[in-house]
Amino acid sequence: MSDSINYKLFINGAWRVGNNGADLPLLNPATERAIGRVAVASVPDLDDVLTSAQASLLQWSNTSAEERGALLVRAAQILKGKIDTAAAALSMEQGKTLAEAKGEYARAVEMLEWNGTHAAKTSAPYPIDERRVVVPEPIGVVAAFTPWNYPAVLNARKLGASIAAGCSVILKAAEETPSAGVYIIEALQEAGLPRGVVNLVFGNPPMISEHLLASPVVRAVSFTGSTPVGKQLAKIAAGNLQRCVLELGGHSPVVVFEDADLSKAAWAISEYKFECAGQSCNAPSRILVARSIYKEFLTKLVRAAEKIRVGAPDDPETDMGPMANGRRIDAMERLTKDAVDRGAKLETGGTRIDRAGYYWPPTILTNVHPESKVLCEEPFGPILTVAAFDTIEEAIAEANDTEYGLASYFFTESPEIQKRMVRSLVAGAISMNHLKGVSADAPNAGVKQSGYGYEGGVEGIRAFQNLKLVNGLKAASVA
Ligand code: NAD
Repeated sequence: MSDSINYKLFINGAWRVGNNGADLPLLNPATERAIGRVAVASVPDLDDVLTSAQASLLQWSNTSAEERGALLVRAAQILKGKIDTAAAALSMEQGKTLAEAKGEYARAVEMLEWNGTHAAKTSAPYPIDERRVVVPEPIGVVAAFTPWNYPAVLNARKLGASIAAGCSVILKAAEETPSAGVYIIEALQEAGLPRGVVNLVFGNPPMISEHLLASPVVRAVSFTGSTPVGKQLAKIAAGNLQRCVLELGGHSPVVVFEDADLSKAAWAISEYKFECAGQSCNAPSRILVARSIYKEFLTKLVRAAEKIRVGAPDDPETDMGPMANGRRIDAMERLTKDAVDRGAKLETGGTRIDRAGYYWPPTILTNVHPESKVLCEEPFGPILTVAAFDTIEEAIAEANDTEYGLASYFFTESPEIQKRMVRSLVAGAISMNHLKGVSADAPNAGVKQSGYGYEGGVEGIRAFQNLKLVNGLKAASVA
């Protein structure tokens, strides 16, 4: 299957085309050329998927957590052996560099492995007291929706946690980046995952989510993507009271205080921001700098951004590849024009690179009017705004002045300021003196409009479990 560039659906343990034979073109964002086709699921396929996931659930949920965990660890090892091939396919579909794609697959391996090694512990009954026990049970069929920016990590994270919990899964992966779902499912299959426990579909996202969530068979929904779509899914899920895990948008600030190591901060921001061409939900987008060091820091940041070599993803000299699709280029043009029309100054970048492919350069804007769209919408691309602040109160107010609350960052050596910032920043995750993304072993969730429900860590497995309280029973009798 993975030798071919025609990606199929995976239903009840078999790779197949959709019921009506429809498919979609797969584009390479570095050339804007078609490189393959992706099969599209129609309603009968989705019904087959629901039947398959429900039928496999009983057997899978009764498989011991040790066995489920061992299978995930085996799958992680199998995937590790395929990283070079899988990363090449991901880079060609998504536009990220080959090095970034390999790094992403290394994290995907970690996600499977971590969930595998924690399956038994998180599934074990535990006592409340002498006569009451909590028995964790799989929640049921999970519908998982993953986007195109980090498809390997996000597929592995959602599949790893739900398989560890003993659930069966219907994965609707992004049509733009189908190979990651295919490679990960092949690894799970090779590791011995029973038929029907994982199913993979592509197609029309709203049609698929509406049809799957209309079924009471689905008990949980896990979605990573934009806030408007997350809200839409939560509304539909209310119909069957399906539990939602929603990892949505972000608009993350970095606050740089005057005692910070300015070179370190500038390089760290630039390196993290321009990974995956800025298309990461927790990438920083608003830099707030103490006025006394503003000019010096801005010069360093612009220099760091201009050192980023933009080019073909398969060129080892490239630091940043193209954006994933034409929609992101349109958004970069719209956000930049709006900011400049309102008086912003372009410090670097700001126009599409004149070559085939969706290339946009690292872009830094200053003097940005507060009502500019780039400060209100999630930019989701290689655009940074930089502004000065005078007091810590002003910095905190500015940092929190967004509807999002996914990640916040700050740079200072002062323990007092560190303590105050940790208390005051409203975000699901905070990083101090460096920028860091999600990991397999720690819970992560947004606040405010960035979503709810944890992914990662023990909490990520718990998200797909019901905790059954049993009165009058000793823990030892259910272990
Ligand atoms: P989009 O909101 O249409 O799609 C985002 C993802 O959600 C895609 O993978 C898509 O297939 C899926 N999706 C869309 N509608 C859906 C539906 N009704 N049911 C189920 N899945 C659905 O927009 P896009 O142009 O692909 O991406 C642009 C925006 O999406 C970005 O600006 C960013 O805000 C957001 N996004 C966020 C993440 C993230 O990691 N949080 C990842 C990708 C995109």
